[in-house]
Amino acid sequence: MAEKTKGQLLREELFYKKKNAFEVRSADEMKAAKDYAVGYAEWLDKAKTEREAVLASVELLREAGYKEYHVGDKLAAGDRVYLVNRGKALFAIKVGVEPIEKGIRIAAAHVDSPRLDLKQHPLFENDGIGYFKTHYYGGVRKYQWATIPLALHGVVVLKGGETVDVKIGDEAGDPVFCITDLLPHLAKDQDAKPLGAAFTGEGLNIVMASSPYIEEDGTVTPADEKVKLTIMAILNEKYGITETDFMSAELSIIPVQNSADVGLDRWLIGGYGHDDRVCAYTALTALMDNTEGEHTVMVVLADKEETGSNGITGMQCRLLADLIEEIAHNLGGNPNTVRHNSICLSADVAAAYDPNYPEVYEKRNSALIHCGPAIAKYTGARGKGGTNDASAEVMAEVRRMLDGQGVLWQTAELGKVDQGGGGTVAMYIANHNIPTIDIGVPVLSMHAPFEVISKADLYETYKAFDAFCK
Ligand code: MN
Ligand code: MN
Repeated sequence: MAEKTKGQLLREELFYKKKNAFEVRSADEMKAAKDYAVGYAEWLDKAKTEREAVLASVELLREAGYKEYHVGDKLAAGDRVYLVNRGKALFAIKVGVEPIEKGIRIAAAHVDSPRLDLKQHPLFENDGIGYFKTHYYGGVRKYQWATIPLALHGVVVLKGGETVDVKIGDEAGDPVFCITDLLPHLAKDQDAKPLGAAFTGEGLNIVMASSPYIEEDGTVTPADEKVKLTIMAILNEKYGITETDFMSAELSIIPVQNSADVGLDRWLIGGYGHDDRVCAYTALTALMDNTEGEHTVMVVLADKEETGSNGITGMQCRLLADLIEEIAHNLGGNPNTVRHNSICLSADVAAAYDPNYPEVYEKRNSALIHCGPAIAKYTGARGKGGTNDASAEVMAEVRRMLDGQGVLWQTAELGKVDQGGGGTVAMYIANHNIPTIDIGVPVLSMHAPFEVISKADLYETYKAFDAFCK
């Protein structure tokens, strides 16, 4: 082989080249990635709502020796604790040995995902079919939810205060639900509409039953709203609920489909709710696997990110600040100093470059699958509006941390400038005077009922959080 020219050597030295896991990882490392994905897929299938994700995470934490913490409890170096916020958000904390005023390493993911929530008065019947009315939660493309099997998950708090868990559609033998759509033969007018207008929010009605209530003597009831009565009678028998109880319920319609390997080579995982449970799982398992380590580390699994992080279980709630204050006081530090010296990885997924839709991406600045977690210095829309925009210094610190542990990573922004945009919890954490930057797994078909990620990216993201915990 001819010797390299100065120009060739210079090019190698000076230019950035994005690396792909298949080019740089050994067969053993790639096997480890596939093995890690098995545990993730199992956990994901148990975590289809934020409440279920919190329960499934608490199960992992308890197995790893974490104890429940209540605000006011004493904390000391070496403690490993978790706090559940109203069943829908979670804080897991490992108290390190270094002085608390060195700051806390925070990884914040969210465990809510786009879905269809039931309205407060959901039940109606129309021409012999009984439906639930929904109000979609988060950014959904409405057409994706028609003609797929759907499940009903959530809680109902009864008049007396008792909470009933509802879960229909996933277990073998369960019925499923669906939204019907027009047949192509009669879709001339609908086909002519723009995609965003062809399906309406008020049209996302869920087929729940189709038979009239049958009296004990085998005859159709003379009562009005016969199908609605069928639905209420079944729900009442199964869960003890009446129609009034829907007012104190949180019931969601989600895809039935469990996660599955995608592709003959099994290097992709399809599933519901990778955004952002994939970052929740990777951050949480990295925290649990780091039993040693000098830093105090906190993993936050937040709710309500998909609707703007508002409310008591969202990242804008002051509970994060309260907890940091508790930890600081417990360990003899000034909370303001602790926050100032902390650092946060806002752990949220990135839009993966989709070769099927190259027109919306600027490839050079897009996350490619199999190239590791994507760091987003900024998100937002219309000239970085609504973004954290991490400083060059924070970016450099994270770069050093990841490179130091040999993590494969890339940077990305969300598609072409002015093509759209989006946000994460990053800015709400930065508002506490905590330097923050976004990092997460690239996702294809983000926010769809069946999102797709790479197992290599999943594992590299775990390694990124592992480096953060070390
Ligand atoms: Mn997200
Ligand atoms: Mn999202």
